[in-house]
Amino acid sequence: MTRALILGGTADASLLAAEIARAHIDAVYSYGGRTRAPADQPLPTRIGGFGGVSGLVDYIRCEGITHVIDATHPFAAEMSRHVVEASAETGTPLIALERAPWTRAPGDNWIEVHDVDAAVAALPEATAKVFLAIGRQHIAPFAAKPQHAYTLRFVDPPEAPLPFAADVIVSRGPFTLDSELEMMRTRGITWIVARNSGGDGAHAKIDAARMLGLPVIMIARPKLPERLRVESVGEIMQWLGHRACLGA
Ligand code: NAP
Repeated sequence: MTRALILGGTADASLLAAEIARAHIDAVYSYGGRTRAPADQPLPTRIGGFGGVSGLVDYIRCEGITHVIDATHPFAAEMSRHVVEASAETGTPLIALERAPWTRAPGDNWIEVHDVDAAVAALPEATAKVFLAIGRQHIAPFAAKPQHAYTLRFVDPPEAPLPFAADVIVSRGPFTLDSELEMMRTRGITWIVARNSGGDGAHAKIDAARMLGLPVIMIARPKLPERLRVESVGEIMQWLGHRACLGA
């Protein structure tokens, strides 16, 4: 009997959950608990950390999990490392659902860096209007360049004071090219800092930056241990021994 655990929190994970529910496969969807009102899923859902690798090992054993699917964000490296270790320890098959990273298109003006500190260093010294498209956990290092006017965008309003004054947009994606162009034009954005998430949902800001001729500091994905990785829901369904109904 199959009983799958989906580590979720991405648009692709939601597509997968819909397909697994449609196929009547027994599964649990897991959220990390980063957003206050995560999207409802058509599967039994749990929210919050497992308590490290040992907690995840216990969960897999106690819940009788037979297949683990890592559909977390490509920058959720800690969770992905834990899953690799826990699946090895329990002998549970693991697959990752992860879109390929974005690559430069003609006209893109990217400065590629390996981490947030390098992104801070890559910003100019002269005052700029910077759109920081990177998750609230990572903004603190930008306080080192207080000369810039920062625009931030979060799914939920910030609960704690921010490490520096900023223009905060509270909105949940995906965003369209037109809305990204308008946001950047009305705020006079001159630089963008983004993470190479891949996929379509977050790409409109990159297209908008190209159209406006703006430089993008692109933070590369963290390195993860080797694991089986596919890019589509259909491939996950095949791995589970089912045919996908969607063209996903
Ligand atoms: P993380 O740093 O890899 O995970 C930290 C801990 O959170 C994990 O060790 C685990 O706790 C718990 N956790 C994470 N995902 C979980 C899940 N699906 N189910 C249960 N527990 C989970 O990941 P993160 O804190 O979620 O995010 C890391 C980065 O990814 C951030 O930069 C964030 O902005 C980005 N992210 C983006 C999206 C998105 O855009 N859709 C979604 C999620 C994250 P235990 O060790 O206790 O098990």
